[in-house]
Amino acid sequence: MQQIDKKLNNIDDIFEFTAHEKFSDLHFKWNEELNLKAIIAIHSTKFGPSLGGCRFIEYPNTDSAVIDALRLARGMSYKNAMAGLNYGGGKAVIIKPREMPDRVAFFEAFGEFVNELGGRYITAKDSGSTLEDMDVIASKTNYVASTSAMVDPSPFTALGVKQGILAAIEHLYQKKDLEDMHVAIQGVGYVGYYLAKYLHELGARLTVCDIDQTAVRRCVEEFGASQVATNEIYSVPCDIFSPCALGAIVNDETLPLLHCKIIAGAANNQLAQIRHGQALFDKGILYAPDYIINAGGVIHATYKYDNRSDEQANEKIINLYEVLLHVFEQSKKEQKPTDIIADEIAYAKLHN
Ligand code: NAD
Repeated sequence: MQQIDKKLNNIDDIFEFTAHEKFSDLHFKWNEELNLKAIIAIHSTKFGPSLGGCRFIEYPNTDSAVIDALRLARGMSYKNAMAGLNYGGGKAVIIKPREMPDRVAFFEAFGEFVNELGGRYITAKDSGSTLEDMDVIASKTNYVASTSAMVDPSPFTALGVKQGILAAIEHLYQKKDLEDMHVAIQGVGYVGYYLAKYLHELGARLTVCDIDQTAVRRCVEEFGASQVATNEIYSVPCDIFSPCALGAIVNDETLPLLHCKIIAGAANNQLAQIRHGQALFDKGILYAPDYIINAGGVIHATYKYDNRSDEQANEKIINLYEVLLHVFEQSKKEQKPTDIIADEIAYAKLHN
């Protein structure tokens, strides 16, 4: 996705930029008493209310927080559109203050802010915010898609990643199973563990790594996985490299090390820069765009929010196979990297 690196010098810059990127609206809330500075960016409501997490981290300045909100909101529009959800894209950014005397009152005030938008934006947990914070927000508004009462989304995200891997295998090898396939998984936390389980059940051979040795041991014992050190995972000769830990893992340092045919994993923002998508394409590595393959969690969350069943959510997640297959086929036909094709399809859905 085109990076947003513009410096916003004044209010006119913000208007110019949001118009260029076809944003819907941008909201600010300031509560001096509580030290609350929050931004809600609504990129698109074309398919339904905008939905995206609430990030609660420190920022060097307000500019960078606004840019983060805009970038993440647009990303959610693309993700929700590609998953075929009846939701648009939005994001909240709360600038984490050095001091927060009353966390409950702080998140209550944020909940009121969300509520004032009347359902144009639905919030959820994201980096820095907790399920307990979401419960507090939910005491002030109904527009919350993740609370402590909801189930862990990781198995659903892992199901989507499994589907993406199967689509990639079908596209490259015209194969419908994972027998004799070797998958190297970076990070066997919540999603990586379930993914390892699903792939093991389908007959895949696994190599895993994690900074957490307990997580590694569990995969070795339960699925017969081999283990490597974290810095060795990139160079494991394998069919599929599945990043399920960190962003920006396809970069100038790792690219020459990769010995895989497919990259398909749950991690967000896997390409360090947009040019790395082209580099993978040139190297003949099929890349499953992260925001499509990792949409299982958001699909499940929105289906639950709409009181639909797990079966209906699973059906939608299973369909990510078709979505990715189409992206792979278009990439081959147009001889363009898969991430560019995905962005073009999402942009056309949102703006044509
Ligand atoms: P997690 O924190 O449970 O798992 C990440 C694992 O990676 C942890 O076990 C951690 O120890 C390990 N790790 C950290 N640094 C590492 C390194 N340098 N090398 C190897 N392992 C390392 O997180 P998760 O919920 O499983 O999510 C994994 C990724 O998928 C994240 O990037 C997340 O943003 C993305 N994602 C998750 C979901 C979801 O439903 N949980 C949905 C969409 C995207």
